[in-house]
Amino acid sequence: MSLVVMKFGGTSVEDPTAIGRTAAIVESRVSAGKQTVVVVSAMSKVTDQLLRAASSAAIGDRTGALAISSRLRSRHRDTAVALVKNAPDAAELGNLIDQKFDSLDEILRGLAAILELTPRISDLVVSYGERISSRIIAAAFIERGINAVHLDARDIIITDSQFQRAIPQDALIEKRVAEHLRPLLNHGKVPVIGGFIASNEAGITTTLGRGGSDFTGALIGGALGADAIEIWTDVDGIMTSDPRVCPDALRVKVISFEEAAELAYFGAKVLHPATILPAVKKNIPVHVLNSRNPGNEGTRIISIAPHCSSPFKSIAVKKKLSIIDVVASRMLMTHGYLSEIFSIFDKHQCPVDMVSTSEVSVSLTVDSNEKLPAIAADLSKLADVKYEGKKALVCLVGEDIRGRNGMAAQVFTAIRHINVRMISQGASEINMSFMIDEDDADEAVRSLHAAFFTDPDPAIFDVEAQKLATEPAR
Ligand code: ADP
Ligand code: ASP
Ligand code: MG
Repeated sequence: MSLVVMKFGGTSVEDPTAIGRTAAIVESRVSAGKQTVVVVSAMSKVTDQLLRAASSAAIGDRTGALAISSRLRSRHRDTAVALVKNAPDAAELGNLIDQKFDSLDEILRGLAAILELTPRISDLVVSYGERISSRIIAAAFIERGINAVHLDARDIIITDSQFQRAIPQDALIEKRVAEHLRPLLNHGKVPVIGGFIASNEAGITTTLGRGGSDFTGALIGGALGADAIEIWTDVDGIMTSDPRVCPDALRVKVISFEEAAELAYFGAKVLHPATILPAVKKNIPVHVLNSRNPGNEGTRIISIAPHCSSPFKSIAVKKKLSIIDVVASRMLMTHGYLSEIFSIFDKHQCPVDMVSTSEVSVSLTVDSNEKLPAIAADLSKLADVKYEGKKALVCLVGEDIRGRNGMAAQVFTAIRHINVRMISQGASEINMSFMIDEDDADEAVRSLHAAFFTDPDPAIFDVEAQKLATEPAR
């Protein structure tokens, strides 16, 4: 019997109508005879609002924090009432939602008293989003006759204790999945699990980083050795660029693990950057699908994608970056200089995206973060340091870029009106990236899209949809 892990994002569970669509999609897999595991995000925008409530409380705005929580309580209660009509189940779910919000309010009051928000407490606060959504969705599925059962993700997704971006412990997850999840499947159940949230070995709540529900889906798929992992979202699949930035974006029908991972790492929000890892380890295909358009075939991510005559598959953008210039008065490319620089980034646990060196300077790009002043202070012991925020990294991804002559010239001709700060076509054969001002990023993507997707390979891109959209109505 084939086994599928289906992950539904925030917009796929944003209200009773969306949850109804999601239930119908799950039913279609169950009635096709598949063993099915469902992973869900918090309802859309809930994670942002919980974070806002926590930070308001921590600066002493107790009333503001509790008002956010109260609005969230009403939204979740209304959703539950609309979906679950059976009186005893509805009462039980209503009580459970109230209990959860009562304990959330207690935490918020505590934060307003102590005026400090640690990463550990932030994870606890945001966990309520997935803890509550998964309960409501499991109950809604049962109401529709799906043999669903709720399972707390924190019992199976075990991580280290790096709050807000915890690292999964694969061996422990496999063990917990075998103990808690597999038996449910063997009994014909459809487990419903909150994504993003996890716990350390001591049982303290952690999270996998923003957008982490995709990663939960892939971790569970990997641990179960699933036949497919489905990521259900609000677009038709991986597109040639973010359709919000570039309305002409085309659906990519098929893409390799390596290309998808590169796109996710460089900012294509449609997938959490770590999603592909568990799938690669077990060679499990990942499908990206649209819960608002379930008939569309979406994007298949597989180990080796077919040949593509177009040079690029997609363009990603990572914003909110900073560029750090370390400038020495004379060449200090002496032995150990670069490693001293990197050890400072290491010490502050700050990953570096891109590096470029010259005779007297080293430029590095990192996510803009609150550690930058401390990093700069440490670096200034070695040389002069400048840093500047509001930068964006644009990344073009496609197989065999290096094998094609003149690619760089074509790329930089397409964006000749934009000032480029740093360029990289380093070790990876499948990406070409450059750094520009954040304000220029959307325009750069549109110009590149217009230059490189005029004659897309119909075997790889959904050219038919584009034709339908542009043909005059008859
Ligand atoms: P979910 O809540 O389902 O996880 P996300 O908002 O995290 O959904 O991701 C889906 C969004 O990713 C899309 O609405 C789209 O704006 C954005 N996106 C960015 N780059 C791409 C891309 N290359 N292809 C498709 N979507 C993209
Ligand atoms: N709810 C979490 C977030 O908004 C995780 C996710 O949706 O994937 O980041
Ligand atoms: Mg997401």
